[in-house]
Amino acid sequence: MIDRLGPARRSFQRRPMADIESADYKFTTDVNLGTLARWLRILGYDTRFDRGDVNRDFLRRAQQEERIVLTRKRDMAKRQFRGRLVVIEQDQVRGQLKEVIGKLGLCVDMNRFYRRCALCNALLERVPTRDVEGLVPDYVYHQAGPFQRCPGCGKIYWSGAHRAMAIEFLRQHTPVRLP
Ligand SMILES: [Zn+2]
Repeated sequence: MIDRLGPARRSFQRRPMADIESADYKFTTDVNLGTLARWLRILGYDTRFDRGDVNRDFLRRAQQEERIVLTRKRDMAKRQFRGRLVVIEQDQVRGQLKEVIGKLGLCVDMNRFYRRCALCNALLERVPTRDVEGLVPDYVYHQAGPFQRCPGCGKIYWSGAHRAMAIEFLRQHTPVRLP
């Protein structure tokens, strides 16, 4: 059979968003949702924080990367966009998190927490304790761990404490049930 589309056109044939499991969702947030973006990364979601204007290029990038657009701009809902776009109604991050978890049925699983850097979205790498000496406070070096480092921005995470903070926040502010 002759392929009439050719490689250029074929690259735009993408599977519909509905085929993607919610645990594998990827997001782009607009400039107003930086804190929400950080929280989605903490939950393990690949989330681009786009500082640019929410315009055609913004939407095209999101669509090419199969990212769900999260925006505060209500008028975006009327734009022509073949991907998925969610207008976030809540002002505070705790409400926004609750809203996005509820609307999209996100998977909130502690085993996925802190896989990504909350600041820059890179996947974290495990590092030996001796490598973080001098990079974290002494008491952390001696008591916390295991440690992870962001290959993008260099931030060090100590999983136990960071994870406990995230769990506490989610318990207080979201309907998520965590042990
Ligand atoms: Zn980083």
